[in-house]
Amino acid sequence: MSIIYSAEYVLTMESDGSPKPGQVWVEDGLIREVGQAISKKHPHLPLIDLGEAALLPGFVNAHSHVEYTMSRGHHDSLNLWEWLNRVGFRRGRVPDADLIAASARLGAAECAYSGITCLGDCSFSGIAASAIDESGLRGIVYKELFGQSMGLDYERQFANVLVEAQRLQRSTSDRITIGLSPHTVYTSSIEVLELCAKTCTHLDMPMAMHLAETCAEQEYTRSGTGPIADWRRQLGYEVNPSGLTPLEVMRSAGVLCENVALAHCVHLSDDEIEMISQSGAGVIHCPRSNAYLGAGIFSYNKFKQNDANVGLGTDSAASCLRLDFFEEMRFAAALHRAASQDAAAISAKQVLELATVGGAKALGLSKKIGCLKPGMRADMIAVDLGESLPGEDIYLSIISKSPDSIKLRLVDGKPVSPRVEHSNNDLKRLMERGELEKQ
Ligand SMILES: [Zn+2]
Repeated sequence: MSIIYSAEYVLTMESDGSPKPGQVWVEDGLIREVGQAISKKHPHLPLIDLGEAALLPGFVNAHSHVEYTMSRGHHDSLNLWEWLNRVGFRRGRVPDADLIAASARLGAAECAYSGITCLGDCSFSGIAASAIDESGLRGIVYKELFGQSMGLDYERQFANVLVEAQRLQRSTSDRITIGLSPHTVYTSSIEVLELCAKTCTHLDMPMAMHLAETCAEQEYTRSGTGPIADWRRQLGYEVNPSGLTPLEVMRSAGVLCENVALAHCVHLSDDEIEMISQSGAGVIHCPRSNAYLGAGIFSYNKFKQNDANVGLGTDSAASCLRLDFFEEMRFAAALHRAASQDAAAISAKQVLELATVGGAKALGLSKKIGCLKPGMRADMIAVDLGESLPGEDIYLSIISKSPDSIKLRLVDGKPVSPRVEHSNNDLKRLMERGELEKQ
């Protein structure tokens, strides 16, 4: 199937591309040609003229947990460890599968509505894989594992997680890649991290981890003190400080490599930022989640100076409130300008790069998605600029919009139609039924 899309602006998001009127020829799920007057050379091909719109690569939400959408707005003013204690699923406290599936479907639909075409999603249950697949989006779904609760039995339990991950891979389409995510250095022992790194390297599976999200993480790994240590003790898990920083723990276990996507990376030394950048690991900046949970501010400029592979992520709706990527982009721009007292700290163009090509690089998918050029998968969106006033900067104009402004969403060249209202009603009904059953 062949279609040519035409728009007033085409943003390829390639380093040398600037916005200009253009056309994108999509054939069999791939981008065949990007340029001008393609339709004149091929008048027999169907042409869709998007008019006053910007055609650009779909957004990449490089760190999410769609299954936690049901926990949106449930807890306010909690620091990360208190939040994890209240919100997090864990052994003996996992909602039933129908509820998780409905929650993940709503999360995926909201992401799709917001112009996201690819997710890097960490899923405790694994159910997110089918929810994202059914929504028509692309994604890497990392089956989460909490190694510390595995105790001495970790090898057998890890083998079970791997079998489940492989089953998920077989049961989903080729838009979905299954990876593994040991949650953090304080919820996974070093033995589990080592096993994970070895297995993922051997099987060429992607990995994800939360790293250096709060100061408390460092206190925990270095000395076994602080609020994370207290929380772990309360849950009955042992506390084994290594004397190392969280990054050193990861690195000594062999997890620091090109194959891993590291969410947050807020509390790191300059040397550690350089080390991560040189390793080729992906780095996912989650500005709203870090702000709402009082975690801190990501050093965007330092990662940029080191040419790191940085993408943008919402984290879950339970810590960012809305799975709205336009809000995430605007918040990132405002945050870094305010924090550095420098309006030039990050431009709207750089924010859009984080949201597209940066996310693709961070997830190791930049050969497939992230920019518009021949041979790439046809994952793209069109943002309506009909209400923009003359003279607006195109990048600023795009990030000023909202999910309602999106007039085209394609993944593999196929239209995606997010069912936000339907999914919301479905989840609401299940949650209300659960409340009634409790009474
Ligand atoms: Zn997360």
